[in-house]
Amino acid sequence: MEEKKRTVTRVEDGEKVRKTAKKTTEAVETAEQEVKKVKKVETLSKPEEKSKAITLRIVSAILWVAAIACEVLAILCLFKALRLPGLSQMWWMIIFIVVDLICCIVAALLWKKASHLDPFKKTNNKVGFFILTQLGVIMAAICFLPLIILVLTSKDKLDKKSKIIVTVVAIVALLIAGLIGADFNPISAEEKAAAEQSITGDVFWTTFGHKYHAYEDCHTIANSASVYSGSVTAAIDNGCSELCYYCAKRAEKEDSLALDGLNIEEGVAETAGE
Ligand SMILES: [Zn+2]
Repeated sequence: MEEKKRTVTRVEDGEKVRKTAKKTTEAVETAEQEVKKVKKVETLSKPEEKSKAITLRIVSAILWVAAIACEVLAILCLFKALRLPGLSQMWWMIIFIVVDLICCIVAALLWKKASHLDPFKKTNNKVGFFILTQLGVIMAAICFLPLIILVLTSKDKLDKKSKIIVTVVAIVALLIAGLIGADFNPISAEEKAAAEQSITGDVFWTTFGHKYHAYEDCHTIANSASVYSGSVTAAIDNGCSELCYYCAKRAEKEDSLALDGLNIEEGVAETAGE
């Protein structure tokens, strides 16, 4: 009897050991993931930022020209000045609208990326700054509005059903291009310079966030799948435009950052009851 009991105990012990071992492995893996989670991003030098921005702006311009060309082709299809084989007039128009949209989206994304690498100056040029940062919206209007107006005002160029379909597709394309083209978090050259001057240490940010964090343990990024670290320059180059509200508050308390001239996320904590 005693021996049997011992055997049982041993099996249980063995399982316990295995389980503990498994848990340890899991713990190590989790720890490894934690370490892997923060990816270091290199800082580009000012000339590198400038030349990259120039390249992106040239590609944007080419894509916008291509988008306008697609719009012109769609208009030519509308007035039957261009007759293409295989598909109906309506389908060719839709194809040109979709290619127009793709060009617009890529151009706007590259343009916005360039606006972070080498931001425009805002001082004494507020209107110019607005136009340049929101160029994606303006180009969306140029790339779709004339076509929409011509389709709506044309008579006997398209049958009623095709006219409705083409109009709806073009309006949806205009809205998508406009939304993607808008820069909701623009940053000026002055704001970027102020951030670079105030924050010399590493900051942290996430893939899609537009805020950078002064503290790695900031609760707003605790659950993010991937966190990047690097200089504030690298954070802005990768889409960030302002310092997180909570990090700013903490820095103010600890007096660890010069917050003057910094873009800071506006008071989210008011409603959170802080
Ligand atoms: Zn934060």
